[in-house]
Amino acid sequence: MRTEKCGSIIYYMRRLDGDGTKMGWCRRYGNWIGAVCLVLLAAGALAGTEDRRTPALPAGTSSVGMTEIPEEEKKKIALTFDDGPHPVYTEEVLQVLSEGHVPATFFLLGQNAEEHQNLVREIDAEGHLIGNHTYHHVQVTSLPLDQACEEIQKTSDLIESLTGKETEYVRPPFGTWSEELEDRLNLIPVMWTIDTLDWTTENVDEIVRRVTEHAEENGIILMHDGYESTVRALERIVPLLEADNYEFVTVDRVIMD
Ligand SMILES: [Zn+2]
Repeated sequence: MRTEKCGSIIYYMRRLDGDGTKMGWCRRYGNWIGAVCLVLLAAGALAGTEDRRTPALPAGTSSVGMTEIPEEEKKKIALTFDDGPHPVYTEEVLQVLSEGHVPATFFLLGQNAEEHQNLVREIDAEGHLIGNHTYHHVQVTSLPLDQACEEIQKTSDLIESLTGKETEYVRPPFGTWSEELEDRLNLIPVMWTIDTLDWTTENVDEIVRRVTEHAEENGIILMHDGYESTVRALERIVPLLEADNYEFVTVDRVIMD
């Protein structure tokens, strides 16, 4: 793992798996997020050191036994699933998410979406966010620009024809993106902060541990809805993170809020 500076945010780049990672969105938003942070810091300095996140309890009350935590005090975290839809395990992932009332983000491959169109409609109907993962799982930066754009555009068009919704987010396979692509395509690249490496192991404990050990506010968890071990891990990850005061959100809420 190495640390890189992007805009005014320091972020982490890992290249442990085939996808690699790069917080591409921070290039676009880093500067204004940094500006907002500066304004908030200044406001905090003017208002003293009071922490909004830990309001004082009324006299005589105690936090002991209080289990209800207001929604705005919860830590946001996003589950993301790449490479689907898968004919078997996407349905199982949707089932776990539905039982837990948990929203997630699915970065679909065009070729799989073409083959499993009902699953694309189902993901959308269940309220999850759908993003683009290219048509053939290609490394877009290694292709001629026109071909790379076609890989992405064809997938966006297919998703829109099935859901009626324009695709706004792309997760480039292998985590590589370029300014040329950003200029040509009106899409926001979304990388990740927690790599479960679920595609490398059938060890459910290991997948769960990678998430619980690296979970953080505004984290983005990378998983793949093509494996049984991912489904089993998800069944444990949801209650574990909820017990740790996390709220699952779609990835746009982590990036834009
Ligand atoms: Zn992928």
